[in-house]
Amino acid sequence: MKPTAFEYFTPSTVQEALQLLESQGDEAKIIAGGQSLVAMMNFRAARPEALIDINNIKDLDYIREEEDELVIGALTRERTLEVSPLVKEKCPILAKAITHIGHLPIRFRGTIGGTLVHADPTAEIPITSVALDAKMKIAGPSGERVLNAGEFFLTYLTSAIEENELLVEVRIPTLPPKTTAWSYVDISRRFGDFAIVAVASVLSLDNDGVCKEARIAMGGVAPTPVRAKEAEALLAGQKITDSIIEEAAIKAAESDDVDPDSDYHATAEYRKAMTKVLTQRGLKEAWTNFEGSK
Ligand SMILES: Cc1cc2nc3c(=O)[nH]c(=O)nc-3n(C[C@H](O)[C@H](O)[C@H](O)COP(=O)(O)OP(=O)(O)OC[C@H]3O[C@@H](n4cnc5c(N)ncnc54)[C@H](O)[C@@H]3O)c2cc1C
Repeated sequence: MKPTAFEYFTPSTVQEALQLLESQGDEAKIIAGGQSLVAMMNFRAARPEALIDINNIKDLDYIREEEDELVIGALTRERTLEVSPLVKEKCPILAKAITHIGHLPIRFRGTIGGTLVHADPTAEIPITSVALDAKMKIAGPSGERVLNAGEFFLTYLTSAIEENELLVEVRIPTLPPKTTAWSYVDISRRFGDFAIVAVASVLSLDNDGVCKEARIAMGGVAPTPVRAKEAEALLAGQKITDSIIEEAAIKAAESDDVDPDSDYHATAEYRKAMTKVLTQRGLKEAWTNFEGSK
């Protein structure tokens, strides 16, 4: 199918984009990489009357380090993040997670802002941003506001962005390599397909290898990525062993927040079972890689 007819605008500043969002009203949509929106338009699941293409807003395309954060412009391509030496050094879990997104041509076009606003609960960057406590900077008619990843995703394919707002920047805490164990694991029908279930784990450790803080985000188990809070609480203050990892994985799968639906990819029961398997696998991988890197 072809999309319905639309007007097309190419602002070159954030201010211009915001003015267009105001003047075009509810029926206007931002387009960034187009990798989700165009598919939805072709299926007529989205019928915007106006497209506001932000690809000319060069100020939204950057990656830099500020104190203990990576600061990323919303228009930065997934592929740029995947190969960035700065991202690989300061936040390797993000670079790794991105390798699981679709295929190269998609990552060359898709943007960090687009995948966050699209808010697919099995998408790699949303899941990782929840594990990392990323912050989203949003520009609107009355100025800027900042939301934590945990507040940003409202439900399936719905973020907290209002129709007259633009996601402009994402801030992600950097991970100190000597005291951080991490992993990103998922299960999908084929490598590159959207995950059925995915788990991002980040363990902050002290010098004796005791877990100070655990952050575990699970995707594909609820309408948004969710944190495995009970498992995180269990791991905090503990030495990492196989048995505590198994206990944490059981807690993750039993969490009230793990409430998956059945669909044609997998039943709810299978997703729940995979939550335990992947949390256990992910924590083991994080710990093994950390130990191996010393
Ligand atoms: C075949 C295929 C396979 C894929 N596989 C995966 C996968 O395995 N994992 C995965 O995570 N993703 C996958 N994707 C999706 C891909 O990551 C998309 O690039 C991403 O979801 C959307 O990014 P985009 O920049 O293309 O956004 P667009 O499609 O341009 O926009 C998506 C939505 O975000 C809004 N938007 C975009 N930017 C902004 C902004 N700055 N402020 C406010 N609103 C904004 C748009 O209005 C739209 O509603 C796949 C896509 C395809 C086509």
